[in-house]
Amino acid sequence: MKNVIITIDGPAGTGKSTVAREVAARLGYTYLDTGALYRAAAVAIEDAQVNIYDDETCGMIVSNTDIVLLNDRITINGKDVTSEIRANHISEVASKIASHPSVRKALLAIQRSFGQQYSLVAEGRDTGSVVFPDAQVKIFLSASETERANRRYNELVARKTAISYEQVLDEVIKRDQRDTSRKISPLVVAEHAIVVDTTQLDINGVVNKVVEITRDRLADQ
Ligand code: C5P
Repeated sequence: MKNVIITIDGPAGTGKSTVAREVAARLGYTYLDTGALYRAAAVAIEDAQVNIYDDETCGMIVSNTDIVLLNDRITINGKDVTSEIRANHISEVASKIASHPSVRKALLAIQRSFGQQYSLVAEGRDTGSVVFPDAQVKIFLSASETERANRRYNELVARKTAISYEQVLDEVIKRDQRDTSRKISPLVVAEHAIVVDTTQLDINGVVNKVVEITRDRLADQ
């Protein structure tokens, strides 16, 4: 039987990771955090101390790095970087190197190999538009800028990061601009995707909605 693929895309701070993880648990599917791959690539590029604005060099480093994502742990060349990839400055580097075509190409193969092996809930920016264009269910999560900055700020404070709300808002706006305006695989609402505005919903509310949409869509197919 063909694997079922559910894609959840959207900007930072919409709760994608938490929602995707929970939806995957409820349906018994594998959760694929594609942002973790971009973050691990950012760590590899930073470790190599090369120019992060050089597409070709960054792509070469990512292609030559063994990135393994398994059961919520992620390693680069055997080194566990699960915590390191969540550092605030890595969010910035990841969003910069994500605009390089050669980096995206190197990570595409890893993402698609998950879809060949498992039924998935994949989450990111282009999982419905580029990585899995034939996914049976596509969701786009949105929320107001201030609500997203608020969620991200609370997340960073919980992780004891010294940062102001204003700085987080500024970073969220800049990251969105980069993600939506890049030439390759920009953040867009994929064809046939259903937009869910999460501004007024808690995580459980969003999860219920996504599970409901999934059941309806799968029943129609
Ligand atoms: O989702 P997360 O915030 O962990 O992703 C980190 C960065 O990786 C994003 O800001 C985005 O620039 C990039 N990314 C991407 N395409 C994806 C997933 C993440 O460009 N599918």
